[in-house]
Amino acid sequence: SLNLLDSRSVMGDLGWIAYPKNGWEEIGEVDENYAPIHTYQVCKVMEHNQNNWLQTNLIVTEGAQRVFVELQFTLRDCNSLPGGVGTCKETFNMYYYESNDEEGRNIRESHYSKVDTIAADESFTELDLGDRVMKLNTEVRDLGPLTKKGFYLAFQDLGACIALVSVRVFYKRCPSVVKNLAQFQDTITGSDSSQLLEVAGSCVNNSVAEDLPRMHCSAEGEWLVPIGKCVCQVGFEELNGSCQECRLGFFRSVLQNPTCSKCPPHSFTRVQGATSCSCEEGYYKTDTDPPNMACTRPPSAPRNAISNVNETSVFLEWAVPEETGGRKDVRYNIRCRKISVDSRRYEECGSAVRFLPQRSGLRDNSVMVVDLLAHTNYTFEVEAINGVSELTNPGRQFVSLNVTTNQAAPSPVSVVRKGKSGKNSISLSWQKPDRPNGIILEYEIKYFEKDQETSYTIIKSKETEILADALKPSSVYIFQIRARTSAGYGGFSRRFEFETSPYLAASSDQSQVPIVAVGITVAVILLALVTGFLLSGSGSAYNSECVRCGYSKAKQDPDEEKMHFHNGHIKFPGVRTYIDPHTYEDPNQAVHEFTQEIDVSCITIERVIGAGEFGEVCSGPLRLTGKREFPVAIKTLKAGYSEQQRRDFLGEASIMGQFDHPNIIHLEGVVTKSKPVMIITEFMENGSLDTFLKKNDGQFTVIQLVGMLRGIASGMKYLSDMGYVHRDLAARNILVNSNLVCKVSDFGLSRVLEDDAEAAYTTRGGKIPIRWTAPEAIAFRKFTSASDVWSYGIVMWEVMSYGERPYWEMSNQDVIKAVEDSYRLPGPMDCPAALYHLMMDCWQKDRNSRPKFEEIVSLLDKLIRNPSSLKALVNSSHRSDSEPEGSGHQSVGEWLEGIKMGRYNELFMETGYTSLEVVAHMTLDDLRRVGVNLAGHQKKILNSIQEMRVSLINATVPI
Ligand code: AMP
Repeated sequence: SLNLLDSRSVMGDLGWIAYPKNGWEEIGEVDENYAPIHTYQVCKVMEHNQNNWLQTNLIVTEGAQRVFVELQFTLRDCNSLPGGVGTCKETFNMYYYESNDEEGRNIRESHYSKVDTIAADESFTELDLGDRVMKLNTEVRDLGPLTKKGFYLAFQDLGACIALVSVRVFYKRCPSVVKNLAQFQDTITGSDSSQLLEVAGSCVNNSVAEDLPRMHCSAEGEWLVPIGKCVCQVGFEELNGSCQECRLGFFRSVLQNPTCSKCPPHSFTRVQGATSCSCEEGYYKTDTDPPNMACTRPPSAPRNAISNVNETSVFLEWAVPEETGGRKDVRYNIRCRKISVDSRRYEECGSAVRFLPQRSGLRDNSVMVVDLLAHTNYTFEVEAINGVSELTNPGRQFVSLNVTTNQAAPSPVSVVRKGKSGKNSISLSWQKPDRPNGIILEYEIKYFEKDQETSYTIIKSKETEILADALKPSSVYIFQIRARTSAGYGGFSRRFEFETSPYLAASSDQSQVPIVAVGITVAVILLALVTGFLLSGSGSAYNSECVRCGYSKAKQDPDEEKMHFHNGHIKFPGVRTYIDPHTYEDPNQAVHEFTQEIDVSCITIERVIGAGEFGEVCSGPLRLTGKREFPVAIKTLKAGYSEQQRRDFLGEASIMGQFDHPNIIHLEGVVTKSKPVMIITEFMENGSLDTFLKKNDGQFTVIQLVGMLRGIASGMKYLSDMGYVHRDLAARNILVNSNLVCKVSDFGLSRVLEDDAEAAYTTRGGKIPIRWTAPEAIAFRKFTSASDVWSYGIVMWEVMSYGERPYWEMSNQDVIKAVEDSYRLPGPMDCPAALYHLMMDCWQKDRNSRPKFEEIVSLLDKLIRNPSSLKALVNSSHRSDSEPEGSGHQSVGEWLEGIKMGRYNELFMETGYTSLEVVAHMTLDDLRRVGVNLAGHQKKILNSIQEMRVSLINATVPI
């Protein structure tokens, strides 16, 4: 607080005025230092009507709006005065009057405002007046709000005995202070006793406001509630409430860091107060490097580069540079130059050469270079760069490699033009492939009528043009061309569609002959099938007592598969093909042709095992004459079906009835003559594969899993050879029997995709099981065996992850997008790398690059025969060498070879006996089913199985 007046410290005359003159009087006393004590007293207790005023001089407020007056005084107790009772008072009054000048000296009493009546209270100290001891009272009063330059105080006595010893007038303020690096100035408190004055601070030297600093000055002169603060500017740090420069070798670049930091490695400062550090010679920093990151250098050259040439492709691989320069962003650029044979000069490779994934900015230390010229010398330079390479100029850091490409087949023909077309002919011309890679010996032109791919024609030509004749009028034909050099055939061109002219009655038409030939071939096949049924049906031994419960299957003539029809340059792929029951005008006829009627009395329904689209799926024994009773699955068509539903239901049987393969669910027959209509198939004890795998999570050996996959692939190879595209291959549509043999099931026509809960409508309207379907099938309904191969890859993934849902809970839309963006499912836990590679192959965007089912089967066979090839895993949850003791690593093939029964290997594989664990459970019946019919061989194999069981006793064999 600050005094405006302190009567004790005034050395000379106080200059106060008393009225009337005989009222208040100043006593000229001095203290022990002979300084005057300005004491005023009055004591007219015996007289009536006292009104004694004591007025101060003008007290200048100095801006204070509220001031305090502290009075020290003595007051005599009236009781202690003899005879004075009646007129004696024990209080006095204090007044004030505001004024800008001295005029107040002359104003009247009535213009004063009263502050208070003052009385003595308990809080006093004793005052030694020499001859007597008095009680000294201290009273404080405040006045305000004051608005003028100053004021007068007046003390009114009405007949008391008072000694006013001191008057002190002061105001309160919040003293200047530094808080949170902000300076707050001296602040006089507000006029109101409860008021808080908000005061803005100013940042101390070398600091900046982070958030405008403020504090609040209370009426009591205390600083309260600080808000906001200042922080030292960059290059400075706070030390004892002020900002000091960073020392040498230290820097502060951002306000968020509270203190200066040491310069990171390879950097320094030359002055104090640095906001950044400079890099040492030869070291650099990019704009985006964080300030606390060390200065870095460009990398040294890559090391140990090697190349691997495959025809006109080169795979380059190298080791990371010894010196990465202290950075993690090392990238590689490839420079490719061709050495011209004659001039021995270098020329840049140009844009025809492609680099996979790219030519520059490679993150991995390998690259695939394709579309090089055959038989040509190349030099590749692999350069290492990092984020600071471009800030330097020290010459390129690279390793170089010389490579010579090999002989290669020609690239595909890409430009094909249609010349003249007649009603039976189309003339074509084309351009040589971009990269013939040698001398073109001839071209092969394949063509067929649209959607009739199984009957195609091949023409060979040395020229780059041909005339395809013997065509149908007004028909669209698909053409594909490939070139051949001494290195072999190149890939086929894409498909070109051209149409013949409309038929005109006047023109002669000798070109119908080959078409007739096509017709004949199909007819021959059909005839063979039909007569096959009839002949074998009538030839089998029927038992007269239960004629109804017998039938025999049509056996396929093995020669039929090799039936080729040569007619000049026309040749047919001679495979028995699947016949779409839709092509029959009367669908019942297809049912007749491809299925056997079974009398309902031969079937006993024992239990319900599942729900199909058309009705319940049951199981129970089937009793056919002359055969042992065996379990079957019975699919029923629920009552109240429409004609269309019946047709669709039996459609599946008409398709299934055309197949005969150990890995395709086998149709026993149908019941159509009584109700409910039923389809009878072999019984698959373990149900559908997806549920089966989930139930037995982690329970199988890799060989067992590969065995299942092998079976599925073999079934699919059979279907694709038959020209049947499944469209809904998924683990849920594979059934598993008690021997772990997997069989493909769920054959339908258009309805295939209608009854699958996984199928979702695409933007084009069709219903498609998105997660299992190849992108081209989703995008433009291009369903082929190649799209089935894609689905097969998904099934592989399902199997290796024990029934995990592909793409987990991603939405169908996200799956489509992700696949389009080249995302592929990652390898399942503990999945052999070889299998994951195969899956990834199945998921090639280009459907022609996917493996064929035939190739898949033979690859899986190879893996099964050589189990060590399955040792390398993509991502392992445990050490891989945990194969059970005793099971050995022997394959079925090796075992059969060992007992000189190698000839049965193929049959074992085909029937699903792909691992010794499964073989160990085989019975004589199983052997017969596999096709081991010679008693001696049966005995030999069974003996060996017996031995095997003993050695397998300790091994964990699930199921
Ligand atoms: P589907 O209508 O063919 O999808 O069959 C429905 C369910 O019935 C399947 O998921 C299987 O669990 C069961 N099922 C169908 N066919 C058979 C069969 N041949 N053997 C055993 N279970 C089957």
